[in-house]
Amino acid sequence: MMDIWNFTVQFHGHECNGLRWGYKVATFALEKLKIDKSSDEELVAIVENDSCAVDGIQVVTGCTFGKGNLIFRDYGKHAYTFFSRKTGEGIRITRRKEFDTKDILSANGDEIFDVSEPKEDMPKTARIHKSIECAKCGEMAMETRIKIFDSQYLCYPCYDKIMSDQHLYLNTPLAKNGEKNGNS
Ligand SMILES: [Zn+2]
Ligand SMILES: [Zn+2]
Repeated sequence: MMDIWNFTVQFHGHECNGLRWGYKVATFALEKLKIDKSSDEELVAIVENDSCAVDGIQVVTGCTFGKGNLIFRDYGKHAYTFFSRKTGEGIRITRRKEFDTKDILSANGDEIFDVSEPKEDMPKTARIHKSIECAKCGEMAMETRIKIFDSQYLCYPCYDKIMSDQHLYLNTPLAKNGEKNGNS
């Protein structure tokens, strides 16, 4: 029978230290929250990076991007928060700054991780939202992902494009030259 670690490697596609860290964090979190892997208890994971480690967390905890119980915060930190929906209990796990990485998988979690209170509240369960048509590209986007600019509804990419185009214009040498020419 394939154990969870081997399955994690198969899922990820290669064996690496990032994956080992993710697997270790996830098994440590289940232990701390006293959750049995075979139970269908709903967990929520908030990951503060998008490294190989996150695949370990998806396999071990069952928190996946598609199910909406894996939340990504782009902070570039080796920090992971887990909540049990049933008990409301949550923990945030970070890597210690000084650790022995020789054997991550068999290390004692209490020696390589720090456990603290979550830095944010438990995320609300995913809700269904209606879609709104973007005035620029015509595609439909969830209403919570619509921005209003110049009294038009815009999807995020179209809104960002407009913002960056304006920003670029203000910062191009051409614009500066134009200003200089105008003054002389
Ligand atoms: Zn990897
Ligand atoms: Zn659009």
